Amino acid sequence: MPVFSIVDCNSFFVSCERLLNPSLKGKPVIVLSNNDGMVVARSNEAKALGIQWDAYHLIKDKIRYYDIQVYSSNYPLYSEISGRVMAILKQFAPRMEVYSCDEAFLDLTGIENLDTYGQLIRETVLQHCGIPVSVGIAKTKTLAKLANRIAKKSPKVKNGVLNLVDSHYLDDALKRVEAKDVWGVGRRWAERLRGHSILTAYDLAHADPKWLLKTFNVVLTRTALELRGQFCLSLQLDPPLSKSIMHSMSFGKLVEDYASLRQVISTYAAESSAKMRREQLACGSVHVFLQTNRFIQEPQYFPGITLPLPYPTDHAAEIIQIALSALDAIFQDGYRYNKGGVMLGQLIPASERQTSLLDSYNRDKVVGLMQALDGINRQFGPGTLRYGSQGFRKAAWQMRQNHLSSQNNQGLMTEHQQVKRICELGQSTALIRAL
Ligand SMILES: [Mg+2]
Repeated sequence: MPVFSIVDCNSFFVSCERLLNPSLKGKPVIVLSNNDGMVVARSNEAKALGIQWDAYHLIKDKIRYYDIQVYSSNYPLYSEISGRVMAILKQFAPRMEVYSCDEAFLDLTGIENLDTYGQLIRETVLQHCGIPVSVGIAKTKTLAKLANRIAKKSPKVKNGVLNLVDSHYLDDALKRVEAKDVWGVGRRWAERLRGHSILTAYDLAHADPKWLLKTFNVVLTRTALELRGQFCLSLQLDPPLSKSIMHSMSFGKLVEDYASLRQVISTYAAESSAKMRREQLACGSVHVFLQTNRFIQEPQYFPGITLPLPYPTDHAAEIIQIALSALDAIFQDGYRYNKGGVMLGQLIPASERQTSLLDSYNRDKVVGLMQALDGINRQFGPGTLRYGSQGFRKAAWQMRQNHLSSQNNQGLMTEHQQVKRICELGQSTALIRAL
């Protein structure tokens, strides 16, 4: 009999901020999206105050009134901590599917005492990374998700671990989760199900599979079978190769001058090429686009162009060069741009790159150069080592991050220093108790 677990970090971005600043424990905290636009993470205390996925500028009064702590998202930091959490989870189950930056499915088939094992996972992640997690364990992935949801929300569940394998609580658990909150159902299907008096996970589990297949589709039928404990969805152990890699972002301010756009496109090309090298891929084409702001009354322009590369490459300089040629081809004076992006396409594994006698680059040298570049930027923070065309000063087009943790609490601490501090703190039991 297969057994699955899903381990999910509790309010992940908020937990990362609390790791840097333990005094945030017990206080309402929110994290904002790029350019400080929307709320993307909330602590339980902020949820209790009624904070939803709101636009930041609409809830400023509420934030001031309740003294809610606000942070700009610090993705390099979250990604570093996510990597540490995943490395620990991997030790508990070699067969693991990383489902998102803060969630992973583990195959626990054959483990004897599942409750104790779940507790051990939770305690180890907390001890080594300082991040609290919830653990759901069940016979299928869908049931494990449901168990995790209850583990997170119900005060009755001890220490955030709920095991529904052969549990007399299973029917109760199914009855207390609404159909819309079942993994893979979603609001639209839930509304249609409601029309057939299927309101809870229990109702869905007991619906006739033939009828579900006829009225809905095979995906929902599988979900219903999984809720009955029939295993349909296996772990996705090898994530499919990315089809494209994109770096795109709204600017902190509208940009109209060519010199700034060169910095933007160079930076986005460098960032996307670094991401591509992390996945050990090379690209055969580069797409560049620009956008004006369609919500303001002024001339609009949404150009984009894809340029092929002579040979597939993962070399940042080559990618920046071709991205700048693309910018030259689409840039028009007289518009104020608010967003741009670079997308790398025709991706292949870097190891399968064909070599050519006509190639002007010494590829072996380039591999070493890129390793050095990525190594330094990993250690000292993204953009520490960069190409001249990316610019050297903080520019107006860069993302608004007025509430970054480094500015709030850590003086002038760089992201690298923050991560290093977390590594030190992660070992400290005092911190773990503080959480
Ligand atoms: Mg989470």
